[in-house]
Amino acid sequence: MRKVMLTGDRPTGKLHVGHYVGSLRRRVELQNTGDFDDIFIMIADAQALTDNADNPEKVRQNIIEVALDYLACGLDPEKSTILIQSQIPELCELSFYYMNLVTVSRLQRNPTVKSEIQMRNFEASIPVGFFTYPISQAADITAFKATVVPVGEDQMPMLEQTKEIVHKFNSVYGETLVEPKILLPENQACMRLPGTDGKAKMSKSLGNCIYLSEEPEEIKKKVFSMFTDPNHIRIEDPGSLEGNTVFTYLDAFCRPEYFPEFLPEYENLDELKAHYQRGGLGDMKVKRFLNNVLQAELEPIRNRRKEFQKDIPAVYEMLRKGTGKAEKVAAETLRDVKAAMKINYFDDEELIRMQSAKYTES
Ligand code: ATP
Ligand code: MG
Repeated sequence: MRKVMLTGDRPTGKLHVGHYVGSLRRRVELQNTGDFDDIFIMIADAQALTDNADNPEKVRQNIIEVALDYLACGLDPEKSTILIQSQIPELCELSFYYMNLVTVSRLQRNPTVKSEIQMRNFEASIPVGFFTYPISQAADITAFKATVVPVGEDQMPMLEQTKEIVHKFNSVYGETLVEPKILLPENQACMRLPGTDGKAKMSKSLGNCIYLSEEPEEIKKKVFSMFTDPNHIRIEDPGSLEGNTVFTYLDAFCRPEYFPEFLPEYENLDELKAHYQRGGLGDMKVKRFLNNVLQAELEPIRNRRKEFQKDIPAVYEMLRKGTGKAEKVAAETLRDVKAAMKINYFDDEELIRMQSAKYTES
């Protein structure tokens, strides 16, 4: 079977380190294995409009920011097709047909949609487009016949919904759509990286992010004001790792080689954690280490981004090409879907023959 990867991001802001550990870093690794027949990376502007209908300019401005972040992280347009969702009308058409296979109550049960509705104060009046975005996501995934979708934990319910649509479609209309597999981060800290404020998820909408393109001073400021253990007041107090954002970030970003470089008095993260829990290790020291780690991780990304920023028209051209290539694939899937549903009347000679027979006989 062909191996196809698909993922994407909403252009609602620049990408942050949560995106990086949750999905982006994995995509680049997978891209570079050369194991995939096709890789599609989608800038989900149509999805971003479902909760930003009154602010299309925000979405328009952020498309290039997301594209630059992709290139900066090492996504390579020679190996990965980068596309803009709204420019592929086939995706809307697929969504429209899938809508008939999903019930309102099923969408209401989706835990991610539930919490996002709350976060956006949509309880009183949910835009229909926002409510149905899991269906449009199923269209995106199946349009490109994705077999693997590397995403953060918040996307689990979306993948479940997609699989249900695939099963339903295939059982009603015959084997047509490909079932995708979710690929979650291996490391627990990366599943859902918390915000710098200690809140459950770093998210553009919550304003608790460290962005990939952040300047060194800004990174430092954010690290030093980060949430730790509120009961760890004096250095000699024992500290807790539970909900301690600084340690969660170290779990997500620290590599063994950073110890000899930045904190040679410890062998590894386990030793550092044990000392913190015992007492005698101050938050400032851990924060200084985390700052060094993040600076080392983000510097090459920031520098590469600056190179790509020098030729913005070339980035748009790359997006235009990628979108064109992706549309051909989506059009093929739509053709298969319409044939399976038998709504391809003009290509169906049998139908035309039967209908004319009906009238010539009578
Ligand atoms: P928005 O607030 O606009 O929804 P977001 O920050 O949640 O933005 P998305 O564009 O919705 O970002 O998510 C893109 C991808 O990044 C998804 O695969 C998602 O699982 C992953 N992701 C987003 N935030 C995190 C996080 N804090 N930790 C791990 N993965 C994340
Ligand atoms: Mg999101």
